[in-house]
This record gives sequence, C-alpha cells and structure tokens, in this order.
Amino acid sequence: PNEADFTQDGAEIVNFHGAHIMVYDYPADSKYIARKIANFKERMEDDALFAVVNLKVLLDRMEEWKINFSRAEPHYAFKCNNDPVIVRILANLGCGYDCASKDEIDYVLDNKLVPSEKIIYANTVKTQSFIKHASKIGINLMTFDNEEELYKIKKLHSDPKLLLRIYASDNYGQCSFGKKFGCDPDEEGPKLLQKAFELGIPVVGISFHIGIGFNDTQVICKAIKDARNLFEVGTKTGHKMTIFDIGGGFPGSDKMGKIPFKKISFDINQALDEHFPESMGVKIVSEPGRFFVASVVSVIVNIIAATKVKASRIFENPENPDEEAYLYYVNDGNFGSFSGRLFDNYTPKGEPLFIESGHEKEYPCIIYGPTCNGADKIEVKEKMRKMEVGEWLFYDDMGAYTKTISTNFNGFKQPKYFYFTDRETW
Ligand code: PLP
Repeated sequence: PNEADFTQDGAEIVNFHGAHIMVYDYPADSKYIARKIANFKERMEDDALFAVVNLKVLLDRMEEWKINFSRAEPHYAFKCNNDPVIVRILANLGCGYDCASKDEIDYVLDNKLVPSEKIIYANTVKTQSFIKHASKIGINLMTFDNEEELYKIKKLHSDPKLLLRIYASDNYGQCSFGKKFGCDPDEEGPKLLQKAFELGIPVVGISFHIGIGFNDTQVICKAIKDARNLFEVGTKTGHKMTIFDIGGGFPGSDKMGKIPFKKISFDINQALDEHFPESMGVKIVSEPGRFFVASVVSVIVNIIAATKVKASRIFENPENPDEEAYLYYVNDGNFGSFSGRLFDNYTPKGEPLFIESGHEKEYPCIIYGPTCNGADKIEVKEKMRKMEVGEWLFYDDMGAYTKTISTNFNGFKQPKYFYFTDRETW
C-alpha cells in the first residue's frame, strides 16, 4: 500500500518535499498506525516489512532537548539516520549538522538543509580529497586529534577553524569509542595546540564524545573540566577559543539509557555553569544523533517461516529440554535494520503486533533474520505467544543506526517508511 490508501481512514496526505505524510485528526501512536497498515497489507497479500515514523515524537524530543539543554546548540549527527524527511524536519527545527564525510556534507548543502556555517565536519580522520572539497565549499569548522591531521589541513584547506577532540570515554559503556579518537588532554592536548599555532592554523575550541550508553556522568564532567583547562592553555598559546562541542551519545529514550536524560542534562549543565559560565561568551554546541531519532521509528517485520523445536535447541541447559519451543524467521535481520545489534550493542525486543485471543500460552523462541548467514539472529525470547507465518512482530526504538548501516545482503530490502503525525503537531 501507499499512504493514499489510508485517506478513507481519516488520514490527510500532505506532500512534504516529495514525501507523503499521513496527518490524522486525532493523536495516534505507532502501534495503532502499524496495525492499520498491517491490516491493509494482509488484505492485499503483501508481506513486505515496513516502518512507521512518528513525527510527533521527533518534535517532542526536540522540545525535551530545548527545555533541558538550552545552552547546547544541537548539530544532528547525520550518520545516525539520514532519512530525507527526518533530516529536513530537524533542520527546520533549528539543528545544525555533524557530518563525517564528503557525501554527508554534500547532501546537507545540496538539499539546502542548512548553510555551511551550521555544519561541523566532525571526523578526526579526514580523507585528503574531502578536506580539499570542504575548503572549496566553505566548510571550515572541523575536528582533529593528531599532528598528521594538522599537516594535511595546512596543505589542503585555505580557511580552517579547528576543534581539538580530547579523549573522554566510558570504557564500560554500551559502545565505547575506546582509544580510537581523542588526544590525551594533559600531555598531547597542549602540544597539539602549540603545533597548530606554529602552523598558523586557528584552533577555535575543544570537542569530545563520550561514547554510547555511558554509566556515569562523572566522565563527562571530567571532560568538561579538561576542556576548560585546554581553553586556558589555548588562549595563552595565542588561539581565540570560542566554541565548546560536547558531542553526542545521549540516550534515545530513558528506557534505552542507563541514566535518565534529566539527570544527564542537570549534571552537564552544572559542570558547564562551573567551567564555562555564560559570562565567558563561549558557544556550546553538541552532536546528538540517537537522542532525536531512536524512538521515532518502529519497524514491523513479517514472519516468513516458523519451526517447532524442543527447548534444548534454543538454550544450553534448559530446565525442561523437551518443552515446546519455536524458531521464527522474519524478513529483516542483522544485515538490515537490526545491524545495530552488531555495531551499536543494541538489544531489540519485539512483540506481536496483534493480540490474539486463544493464544495466551507462551513458548521460548528465537527470532532469526532471513539471510543464509548463521549469525543473523535477532533475539532469543524466554516467552512469546505462538505466532503463525504471515503474522507481524513490532520493534520499537528502531530509528538510530538502523537505516544507515543496513545492507541488502541476500537481496532483502529495507522497510518502507510511513510517516504520520496528528494535525496539531503538523
Ligand atoms: N559525533 C560523533 C563524532 C560521533 O562519532 C557520533 C556517533 O558515532 C555522534 C556524534 C552521534 O552519537 P549519538 O548518536 O550516540 O548521539
């Protein structure tokens, strides 16, 4: 089906830069809309997976950011979800962009999402031809964390303005950046500031990214303190330091993070007030990705095969090895929307889209992806009602690092996005 099929159902279809958005007269949640679409698809014998995109949630997330983090101007991390509707709405809501490559930068500029001044080329390891391109099109604000990068930038960029990225990682987080990025703030930081000055490259501020799923805001508060110290060093060295970039890594919802966002923003605001009081005149920016989009998208997959097995096939040493259990195969997996399981330590938890009476009994099961690869396993469940081939599973919180790291391995497609919202939000 396409969106127009839902007009008799009360949806007005509005055109938003070529995309169709279903605007309902009443507030609707993702599961409700997913059920409508699934019902329609069943009538058409269409078993293709799909996604519902709740634009009200996107606006709510922005509202939450603005209320709790009014100082930290967001530059949305484009890599997180590059969907054309989502990125345009975020730009319209005032976001700048964090881009990591030439293609990301070109998309943002070609589609006139934001002007070049609102883009941070936030990749400390830049391809040489990309630096040249950035110079040509006026992308000047870039991060770096090593001396080699300074020589490359000196040679290839005519008007660079750099942010020195310092190491700040919670090694026990869900997806730590480990030692891949960031210089040591005490030893290397001052030397790099000095080297940049000698080369005549302005360093305009400091950045960090804490990693994902951090356990403790103290690591962030320490990074803020380290950054302040380097602001002093940089200023003494001769740089005009005016921007502090506190990166991303903020949870997609309180359900997904280890610390509630209110507590994170409270602690960070306090550290900013201590080390970067507003009177200092430093512009605070940030690079959130998952915070905005994780909970906006839900993916709905179809059960394409089901096998009855014994629990011993699912668990190592089950209490009751002969217990009835099931293997379900669905039409999306770790090579598609669920790639976050591998790259982002995401643990998906699906549930039947429809409640069926008479199906109350529950069984252990495994949900497998559709490809021929043995590692294409989405989740193991202790209990779920018995599902039939052709039924649907609903996966919430599928907006971050799903679409952008999907492949079409084995010829399986990404879900079609159905955008919806209520009239008041629209
Ligand atoms: N900024 C940088 C430099 C990143 O590498 C990333 C993610 O990898 C982000 C921002 C966005 O992080 P998140 O989506 O966790 O907010």
